[in-house]
Amino acid sequence: SSRLQDKVAIVTGSSSGLGRAIAIRYAQEGAKVVCADLTPTARSQEEAEITTYDFIVRDGGQAIFLQTDVGDATQMENLVQTAVKEYGRLDILVNNAGISIEARTPAVLHLTDEATWDTTMRVNTKSVFLGCKYALTQMLAQEPHSSGDRGWIVNISSIMGMIGGPENPSYCASKGAVSNLTRQMALDYAPENIHINAICPGYTQTAIFKETITNLTPWEDLKRRHPLKGPGMPEDIARIAVVLASDDASWVTGVCLPVDGGYTA
Ligand code: NAD
Repeated sequence: SSRLQDKVAIVTGSSSGLGRAIAIRYAQEGAKVVCADLTPTARSQEEAEITTYDFIVRDGGQAIFLQTDVGDATQMENLVQTAVKEYGRLDILVNNAGISIEARTPAVLHLTDEATWDTTMRVNTKSVFLGCKYALTQMLAQEPHSSGDRGWIVNISSIMGMIGGPENPSYCASKGAVSNLTRQMALDYAPENIHINAICPGYTQTAIFKETITNLTPWEDLKRRHPLKGPGMPEDIARIAVVLASDDASWVTGVCLPVDGGYTA
């Protein structure tokens, strides 16, 4: 289908995992996609065979890739400007790039070093502030979309921003901030017809998941915690990311939607 026909979308962290699935799905729905990541190459072996950008173009979609560090203000401003230069406007921003470094070195708070805290906050939380700041500036300046809406922002938070998870204090804090910032911004920009929502994924089978969670938690345990089908796939998140950026979400804003197979039910 073409639920995002002619919309211009930025997807951060687009080279791997959830960002890759979202970028590909958006292009299949007719969006022009600006893919942004530290490198075009995917982190997992299965995905590394073809970059997200090459996949979309081979599939007949429209995309560009821009190397971007989401924690850097100048690069984030340039990312929005590049989308506008290339495609004339910006309709959708997906703040997806994120890291989970604690899961590699399990840590309770009194053992957490300052660098872990600062890096997690920079990549997971400051990035959302920066992306929204420059995207909202552009959305407010341009003509509204034909529906009358000015823009759609989708933040990828986590179920760990809703509940506490063991031994990942800075990750939980960084995602809790993303969720509440989503609710806060939704109020300020609702009068401008800008939709700002978040998805809170449960454990989803990406590179982060394979490097970290599966080492720490037995599969049977993971299945029990996600009573509907066990841990999810990137496409389970991408399908909901389409809805939240489409006209189907005409009266939806400020929502932090768990997409988690029942984990938080
Ligand atoms: P992933 O590691 O497969 O992909 C993350 C991508 O972000 C990578 O391509 C990486 O290069 C990129 N990235 C990292 N730091 C960046 C930076 N500074 N600038 C630009 N790009 C950067 O991980 P994923 O599982 O797809 O995670 C995507 C998002 O989903 C993250 O925000 C993560 O916290 C969130 N999330 C994941 C899960 C899960 O179980 N996989 C669950 C809940 C939330």
